[in-house]
Amino acid sequence: MTDQENMAAAPAPANLPEQILHYIDGNYVPSLSGETFDVLNPVTNETYIQAASGDKADVERAVAAAKKAFETGPWPKMLPRERSRILHRVADLIEAEDERLAELESYDSGLPITQALGQARRAAENFRFFADLVVAQVDDAFKVPGRQMNYVNRKPIGVAGLITPWNTPFMLESWKLAPALATGNTVVLKPAEFTPLSASLWGNIFAEAGVPAGVFNLVNGLGETAGDSLVKHPDVPLISFTGESSTGSLIFANSAPFLKGLSMELGGKSPAVVFADANVDDAVDATIFGVFSLNGERCTAGSRILVQRDIYDEFVEKYAAQASRIKVGLPSDPNTEVGALVHPEHYDKVMSYVEIGKEEGRLVAGGGRPKDFPTGNFVAPTVFADVAPDARIFQEEIFGPVVAITPFDTDEEGLALANNTKYGLAAYIWTNDLKRAHNFAQNVEAGMVWLNSNNVRDLRTPFGGVKASGLGHEGGYRSIDFYTDQQSVQINLGKVHNPTFGKQ
Ligand code: NAD
Repeated sequence: MTDQENMAAAPAPANLPEQILHYIDGNYVPSLSGETFDVLNPVTNETYIQAASGDKADVERAVAAAKKAFETGPWPKMLPRERSRILHRVADLIEAEDERLAELESYDSGLPITQALGQARRAAENFRFFADLVVAQVDDAFKVPGRQMNYVNRKPIGVAGLITPWNTPFMLESWKLAPALATGNTVVLKPAEFTPLSASLWGNIFAEAGVPAGVFNLVNGLGETAGDSLVKHPDVPLISFTGESSTGSLIFANSAPFLKGLSMELGGKSPAVVFADANVDDAVDATIFGVFSLNGERCTAGSRILVQRDIYDEFVEKYAAQASRIKVGLPSDPNTEVGALVHPEHYDKVMSYVEIGKEEGRLVAGGGRPKDFPTGNFVAPTVFADVAPDARIFQEEIFGPVVAITPFDTDEEGLALANNTKYGLAAYIWTNDLKRAHNFAQNVEAGMVWLNSNNVRDLRTPFGGVKASGLGHEGGYRSIDFYTDQQSVQINLGKVHNPTFGKQ
């Protein structure tokens, strides 16, 4: 069987719904207009299902349901322990369905199945983490003995609008849903239009776990219609957005008239800096995984590798050889390391950067479509060496399996190169020199730094970027802060000391 035949043979997951629907007030519903949009299989680019295409009217319905559930339902008033139990059940249900979830996600997004499975488990873990955190939550109290006591009331805010991208869609949705719900808010989720399939599981999962109707609502649709209506809805005081920096600034502007609370997790062009004293084999392994896992469609991808000149040639040679051996394959194949990019539009964008890179750098691996895959959104892992810092492939987020390698000489030059983009999401540093590692970490313009490590994240740590990579940090109690109001209450403990106005 050729790969082409394999592709045709890769079957659609069993028991797909007839149409991907919205989920509003406890029911799966089509759009009021009846409108739908096409959802493509990235291996064939054939439409395999239709999704309900929401517009302002559907968003109105979803927000009304969420508002009612917030104002009159039990969810915001439940004890943290009660909500926590329900959210642990959500995690149990996700875990029980992890294989099905991974199958749907992989089919819809083109992610390799093993990596989709890891993301499904991470989604369950997000629920467990925030279910635990709200039970352990303590709030500040301040006392001036004999005079005043001050304490903090932490309150859910209302209807949270959650807008998510198509890379690891279910996991990124869980990342917002878990803290928003754990803190007692109700939500309207607008998932990415390229990958709506796995999100269609949420409604049943929440209902089965015991989340009351109206607490979780989902409207599918395009960013400019469904997403825009959510952003501009006056009854949605919070917007948590993950996506491109340009979309983030548009949403920021559209939210301004309403003075909404905003959390923005945006794009990246993160540096991986490899010093001559690093363990080169570890650094090669990690920087290969860092840019080619999740098909390179990863916000924290180390897509610019800066290598100290003493080891530059050795590094590039090893890196190119290893990148050329990465197994591109069907997303459903457990041996696949890089699958198919999500959508033909994104494939065209990534391929245009591959062509730009051929003008801007020295191609040492990949450079186009892998030969066994004449159709579908497959891109061979592509490596450009000797890339100048003003090159577009050095500066612009490609969001695919394409990496730029650039040499540097001194620590100062490495730092200047690392900081030489508009983005500031992550940075990876490879060195065995302790002082250098910590000083570099201090000075690099990135929201998150990994030293001699791949992107392994403790859920308690802050997550977010600086510069064009985002505004605000989520993760751990910072997510709790975003989704709650902290009201301070002041109590007099002593004599009432009033400056008396109008004294007789
Ligand atoms: P995108 O900005 O195109 O879309 C993201 C979401 O926003 C989608 O649901 C889309 O429908 C919606 N949207 C688009 N226009 C809108 C509008 N005018 N109003 C309201 N909603 C709108 O991003 P994408 O292509 O789906 O995702 C890839 C991007 O996401 C990359 O830049 C990547 O780096 C970034 N990302 C960042 C993080 C992070 O945590 N920093 C994580 C994952 C992805």
